[in-house]
Amino acid sequence: MTNRTTQATPPFLSLEKVSKIYQRGPNRVVALRTFSLALPAAQFTAVVGRSGSGKSTLLHLLAALDHPTEGEITVGPWRLSAFDRREQARYRREMVGMIFQQFNLIPSMTALANVELPLVLAGVAPAVRQARAAECLERVELSHRLDHRPTELSGGEQQRVAIARALALDPPLLLADEPTGNLDSVTGKQIVALLARLQREQGKSIIVVTHSLEEVAPVATRVVELHDGSLLRTDEKGPRGATESTG
Ligand code: ADP
Ligand code: MG
Repeated sequence: MTNRTTQATPPFLSLEKVSKIYQRGPNRVVALRTFSLALPAAQFTAVVGRSGSGKSTLLHLLAALDHPTEGEITVGPWRLSAFDRREQARYRREMVGMIFQQFNLIPSMTALANVELPLVLAGVAPAVRQARAAECLERVELSHRLDHRPTELSGGEQQRVAIARALALDPPLLLADEPTGNLDSVTGKQIVALLARLQREQGKSIIVVTHSLEEVAPVATRVVELHDGSLLRTDEKGPRGATESTG
């Protein structure tokens, strides 16, 4: 019954000895220190660690919003460290969907228009992009809210619009920075379940930064724990939330 291959496939995503140092005047902050990690495709990875441990920095580097100070990052065929501006823009358009704690929707625009926006920026024709945006909203079960503006939506609904927007260009990698941080725990669980479904049904690679390992433990296929910019541990499968302990 098992369908596992023992063949070594190259990782979908890898960081090799990546460091990120923020230098502000005399202040030097080492946000990531010689950090290495390799992930196969289609994982649901939870990134946990205290505030200030480097979680957001890690996502920013993977989104090519910022360059590492040292080291190599590869995602699929892309070598992020070698990017010029054009490649960086193409990578972000083709490979990455981002989801934020604050949803970051445009308040004056309807749900449909918010989801259409990345398609507008990518130059997709109006008829095509409307259909595509509606389809993405259907995938997050919001077909009944196409014409609503963010203020007319609950927090959970706003986050689902943001997820639909992240799906608009069908990227293989979804990066979510504390996507449940502004939601109550029941709604947060629904958002986590939605992300897990996207990973299972569509083979997306999902990396979720969270404060609450408990919230993602049931669905995460991998847990990466950061401490002070270093990798404290990475568990493959079997995350069992707070019960796992070395004590
Ligand atoms: P986390 O998301 O785990 O809370 P961050 O990645 O945001 O951690 O931050 C890691 C460290 O880097 C923190 O000490 C933070 O203050 C610092 N840091 C983050 N972004 C910047 C920046 N743009 N300039 C200077 N320091 C930063
Ligand atoms: Mg953060």
